[in-house]
Amino acid sequence: MKAVVIEPGSVLGVLGGGQLGAMFTMAACRLGYHVAVWDPDLEAPAHRVATHSFPAPFTDQHILARFAELVSVVTYEWENIPGELCRALEQRKPVRPSSAVLSVIQDRIAQKGFLTSNGFPVPPFVGLTYPDQLMASVRQVGYPALCKTATAGYDGKGQWRIPRESDVREVERALSKSVRPGMRWIVESLVPFERELSILVVRGVDGQSCTYPMAENEHEEGILRTTMVPAPGSSAVAEQAATLAIQVVDRLEGVGVFCLELFQLPSRELLINEIAPRPHNSGHYTLDVCSVSQFEQQVRAICGMPLGEVRLLSPAVMMNLIGDNASSLMKGAGCRTLLDIPGAILHLYGKREIRPRRKMGHVTFLGETLGLALDRAKQFRDGLASGPTVSA
Ligand code: AMP
Repeated sequence: MKAVVIEPGSVLGVLGGGQLGAMFTMAACRLGYHVAVWDPDLEAPAHRVATHSFPAPFTDQHILARFAELVSVVTYEWENIPGELCRALEQRKPVRPSSAVLSVIQDRIAQKGFLTSNGFPVPPFVGLTYPDQLMASVRQVGYPALCKTATAGYDGKGQWRIPRESDVREVERALSKSVRPGMRWIVESLVPFERELSILVVRGVDGQSCTYPMAENEHEEGILRTTMVPAPGSSAVAEQAATLAIQVVDRLEGVGVFCLELFQLPSRELLINEIAPRPHNSGHYTLDVCSVSQFEQQVRAICGMPLGEVRLLSPAVMMNLIGDNASSLMKGAGCRTLLDIPGAILHLYGKREIRPRRKMGHVTFLGETLGLALDRAKQFRDGLASGPTVSA
């Protein structure tokens, strides 16, 4: 069956107005679309660039009717938007990826259950409903373990490490304190990975898909700090990641942009940590060094347009600007100093309030080789650490 193409000039709806929503909006505008952004936060970055802005609670039924009337297709910029809102919109307009895909991904237990039942590799895990069963759950996956909220966690929020049996009681107390009706957790084996990788995959309405080069990521306190692309090392691992990504999204029958976060074990085996049903922070390099960015692909995929050919035009290192790290750049001469580093491309998200752990922007460093891009990123990071170089 030939899918209906949503043509330029139409209005695309996006739920969530953070930086990912803003970058999607800018990509859509470049292709001649209009974008309606729905995010309860009036100051969300995407409202600044949207054609139609809905700063209202996601439960507002009046807005739901207006939004559904206005847009030709709906997408979302993060997975923690209410599932019932997606289902309600889907009665009226296509939602891509679908609410069925979202419901699998929103719940870590459902997501890992889907992956294992389809034969995809994940760390050993078990679902947990009652905090007082934590000890039994950890014994099933073994020590060290990690306990995460089943829903609504991101950037390492809602996670507890359990290195040994003597730590269980303390985590159990923390879970009991945070418990809300219906709340569940997932207990996972803490994997001794050699490195963290990610790969973007795009799948169109016709089932055609393409992948981006595999990236290597460094996290601190659960937050992505740095992405290197192409990931150094064996091309066999990159091929394995690409095959896995295509198979997973095919099996999901997902339409849109997806990112697989992966752990590489010392044996070179890959395990899937999680799937994001949207463009990903580790794919921001595509804005500056790919023929077609992840956001343009999101537009193309949800509109039933042909996917763009993916070409990596330069090795790159992406560094996030998080919390206080961003303050010296946003004030005084820091911004000028950064813009002076050859091959540095600055993105600031326009968020007014700097908060600890908040993503304020990112920088992409280009270089003829990955080594050169890394040197430039290091020069910048050292400047941030010492202060005066960047903020002088
Ligand atoms: P998540 O919110 O699940 O993406 O986790 C955030 C970060 O915590 C990951 O990027 C890893 O660095 C770490 N992490 C999550 N799950 C595991 C695991 N099962 N084993 C080891 N590290 C993990």
